Amino acid sequence: MPLRAWGDKGHRVVSTLALRSLPEGPKAWFAGREADVCDHASDPDHWKSDRKEGPRHFLDMEPYGDPGHLPRTLEEAYAKVGGGYYQLGVVPWIIQDRWRDLVDAFRSGDAARVGFATAILGHYIADAHVPLHTTTNHDGQFTNQRGVHSRWESGLVERHIAAEDLSVPPARADEAFVTRPWDWLRASHALVPQLLEDDREADRTSPQHDRGRSRTPAYWMIFWNKQGPVVKRQLELGGQHLGDAILNAWISAGRPPCPPRPQE
Ligand SMILES: [Zn+2]
Repeated sequence: MPLRAWGDKGHRVVSTLALRSLPEGPKAWFAGREADVCDHASDPDHWKSDRKEGPRHFLDMEPYGDPGHLPRTLEEAYAKVGGGYYQLGVVPWIIQDRWRDLVDAFRSGDAARVGFATAILGHYIADAHVPLHTTTNHDGQFTNQRGVHSRWESGLVERHIAAEDLSVPPARADEAFVTRPWDWLRASHALVPQLLEDDREADRTSPQHDRGRSRTPAYWMIFWNKQGPVVKRQLELGGQHLGDAILNAWISAGRPPCPPRPQE
């Protein structure tokens, strides 16, 4: 079963928050197109029949050792771990590539293209904020917690999250924006041990034979009480960082005004 970070709902929430964070200049490009951005925010999860797509959604950090010394380029990744680097994930580099696509889209003057590029960039930025997208133990398979990936990013989100309850600060200009994905990934990775511990603790409330795919109401209550604030925070950060990405792409493109809409 393919891993689908955040599920559809989480990706929609991140897009919604990001558009809400924008100042007038870039915001005008999305007027009337907000729903399109949300509708396409999960598209990359549907591209995984292409074998190269899967690793674009994560970065397994442990093989690189100290999270403070992650490779910054694909050449560095290759130098550290050899030819298997691609299978360890390439999400920070894909974020850089898709961000440049968004800069090009702003330069092209095509608002539909800007909307689509934003949706795709937003997908990978959102994935970088899922703690289990930064670890080789991505589905709890090494700690007898299989399924924790979807319990966290879909189970909790589907049950409890609404974009109206989340907030996001105004997008910020940042000249070093393209270096930021590594900071987000390090911060996400630091959340992994507690996430796994909280899943185990929630599980201790129900007997082993009750631990089906859906878990018991007691499990969900405890897991939400422990991890709910983390889920909310990571969605808010995903939205904030996508907002920053859009603003900085628009600035890099020369702050283009939104072209007038064709007459209907
Ligand atoms: Zn994904």
